[in-house]
Amino acid sequence: MLTPKFDNLVKQLRVLPGVGQKTAQRMALHLLSQKRPQGIALAQALDMAMHDIIECQQCHSFSDDKVCPICQDPRRDDSILCVVETAADVMAVEQTAGFRGRYFVLGGHLSPLDGINADDLHIEQLIYRLKQEPIEELILATGTTVEGQTTAHFISEAAKNHVNKITRIAQGIPMGGELEYLDSMTLTQALQNRSFL
Ligand SMILES: [Zn+2]
Repeated sequence: MLTPKFDNLVKQLRVLPGVGQKTAQRMALHLLSQKRPQGIALAQALDMAMHDIIECQQCHSFSDDKVCPICQDPRRDDSILCVVETAADVMAVEQTAGFRGRYFVLGGHLSPLDGINADDLHIEQLIYRLKQEPIEELILATGTTVEGQTTAHFISEAAKNHVNKITRIAQGIPMGGELEYLDSMTLTQALQNRSFL
């Protein structure tokens, strides 16, 4: 223990994934001894992000405003909606740069064992959107885990009367794969080689 304030900083840094006691101590010492202005900027960025970033009303990804930049972008294709599990998946698909449609973030996948049922995801809002908007294709880009497959199947059943075309990303993705961990090339191919459900 150096000082109570130092210990508290270390404790808070440990909230980050993969950061244990030693790494947190090293980070804290680094900021204090060499990077004070950057440390203050980091604290301000964290404060602002934690208070100001909200859920986009349309796609349920993260947003600074009620509607996120992707949903607001008039150049995106309104007729294709890509359903993903998390905001991290939106980032993964965006990094492929091949997709120009819009997104819908479910907020996870169905997992009855963990107590995550349809009501816990944004499925009702998704169906509402399909009824309201001229969406021609729904791409189900949930993971290829058992839960991701189950979720895709559930949504395709719930959505089939409200949209003409429902596709699933190609199974070239390794089974058990979470989208955000795929390399861009694999994900690009999986999107291009999607198939009808
Ligand atoms: Zn949005």
